[in-house]
Amino acid sequence: MKPSRARSSSTVVADVGESGLIDLVKERFGAGPEGELWAGDDTAIIATGRRTLFTTDVIVEGVDFDLSYCTGFDVGWKSLAVNVSDVAAMGGVPRRAVVALSMAPETPMNEVTGLLDGLDACARAYAVGIVGGDVSGADRMSVSVALTGDVDTPVLRSGARPGDEICVTGTLGGAAAGLFALQRKLEGHNAAIDRLIARQLRPKPRLPESRRLLGASAMIDVSDGLALDLSRVMAASGTGCEVELGLLPVDPDLLALDGGTDPVALALGGGEDYELLCTIDPSDLDATVAALSGSLTGLTRIGVVTEGESCLFDGEPLEEEEMGWDHLRSR
Ligand SMILES: [Mg+2]
Repeated sequence: MKPSRARSSSTVVADVGESGLIDLVKERFGAGPEGELWAGDDTAIIATGRRTLFTTDVIVEGVDFDLSYCTGFDVGWKSLAVNVSDVAAMGGVPRRAVVALSMAPETPMNEVTGLLDGLDACARAYAVGIVGGDVSGADRMSVSVALTGDVDTPVLRSGARPGDEICVTGTLGGAAAGLFALQRKLEGHNAAIDRLIARQLRPKPRLPESRRLLGASAMIDVSDGLALDLSRVMAASGTGCEVELGLLPVDPDLLALDGGTDPVALALGGGEDYELLCTIDPSDLDATVAALSGSLTGLTRIGVVTEGESCLFDGEPLEEEEMGWDHLRSR
């Protein structure tokens, strides 16, 4: 008989939420020696002679993906792409990855080979070497990737200063709208909807763009929604912000989903767009926008960093349910 686990309190993980759990881990494992940065930013920085970024991300069947509407290739691509996005958000260049796979013994092999194909395609697209990994059995599929990157001058979340301009690459809300479309089986309906679905299933980390944002004062990738990720930068920097909702670069393909979605709400709280959100000294704004104008995504100014702690959107704070995606919080 298995020993039963003693439950000394009635609190469960869902009560604490992802942010609370991360805080608990940070308290337990500390802040690292001088020259290193451990938990709390897009990746850790560890000392290896030169500065190396080191990050990991796990995606789980039924939580982060659903094999009823995506392929093994999609899962493989996204599992690495989200890590590349975190390295890009630090101003680094991704280098080497290890991959840990869990799956049920009855998983069809074409899903597994598709997954490896997706991993390989993403690795080639971003010049990452997959150097090893591990495989284990589980009742559902999960893919865990750990990735290193090189960095000379990391761009941290903590560098925003009052008066800095807040900018974001590309467009927002498309990935969440793509998930909405997949769940309603709208695939193939029209080209705009298929582009939204591609944003959900095959995110493109903004690595070339990040090379042109190395002068940013702070940066993060938009994984959990603009509002939540922006609040993380402001909290790390000890600043507040004012965002103009009319300036948000809402994905134009959202217009293809008539009814059922609020484009601004998706742009603010939808998440998984993997755009880069950064703050820029006002004297650098024009040159940075010009440097990005030739890229696929461009760069849009959406607001300004302020003194204090409040994050205001058209002058108002957001309700918690408008903020974005906390992976473990009850909903
Ligand atoms: Mg990140």
